[in-house]
Amino acid sequence: MKLRLASVRLGLGVAVVLGLCACAVFLRKTAGGLRNALSPAYWRARENGADLYEPSNHLFKRGPRDRAEVALSFDDGPHPKSLPLILAALRASHVHATFFMVGSQIALHPSLARAVLADGNEVGNHTYDHKPLDKLSVEGVRHELNACENTFHAATGAKMDLMRPPGMRFDPKVLQIASQLGYVTVDWNVAAKDYMTHIDPNVIASRVLSRVQDGSIILLHDDPDTAAALPYILEELRQRGLQAVMVSQMLAALPKPVLVATNANETKQGLAVAVHRVNRASSFGPAHSESFTR
Ligand SMILES: [Zn+2]
Repeated sequence: MKLRLASVRLGLGVAVVLGLCACAVFLRKTAGGLRNALSPAYWRARENGADLYEPSNHLFKRGPRDRAEVALSFDDGPHPKSLPLILAALRASHVHATFFMVGSQIALHPSLARAVLADGNEVGNHTYDHKPLDKLSVEGVRHELNACENTFHAATGAKMDLMRPPGMRFDPKVLQIASQLGYVTVDWNVAAKDYMTHIDPNVIASRVLSRVQDGSIILLHDDPDTAAALPYILEELRQRGLQAVMVSQMLAALPKPVLVATNANETKQGLAVAVHRVNRASSFGPAHSESFTR
């Protein structure tokens, strides 16, 4: 009898532990962690949309949770070995993406920066030397962003409106400078550690596909292993009904839309391209009256 009671208690104990684990996993997946779920500040931020976009410092964190869209971004290029393959995969799937380019790489391969724009993609600023911005002085941060911007402009005639700090290393000073220079700072939520050398493309694809949700901003890298994984990732997203879009399109589809004329230049044609992008993004859903523009 005692033995049976003990085994019942043990069974109950295991069930409770398993239940708590399941709750923790559920909360982690749905609300970004138990700490968030229990924080009134988190729910206040969700209520007013600040968990998606912080207008005070132009920080974009993720897309809407109720739209079957993901933003696709590729960092650290342009690289001649992988970029043409990535562009071919995007073209084959009729998808456009955002490329956060490093200025020193643009200086080496200006024609690749032009090829990315010619295909209808967009390019954001990823600094000139890929330095951690939170370690730099105000002047150092400005130099890293301006040098990348100037190199891109010399290569393409266009300007950049989006920025992603290397390693997402930023502090309030970095956000303030980026805002002053006219950038939206773009975070990410799904990554594949594909910056490491020789990762199996299957691993890259499964890391992305196991984590992706409505509104995810996917971070990939301009890398040959990623290029090999991309066709599979794009096909699986399509089968799940998830539309891959550029960051500027996801910004325009926020409950309080943020409109950026990405990569506009001074010519009529460049501005027309930017307006077309915004219109196309807006056409995915209903227009909203209130909007934040920079
Ligand atoms: Zn990077």
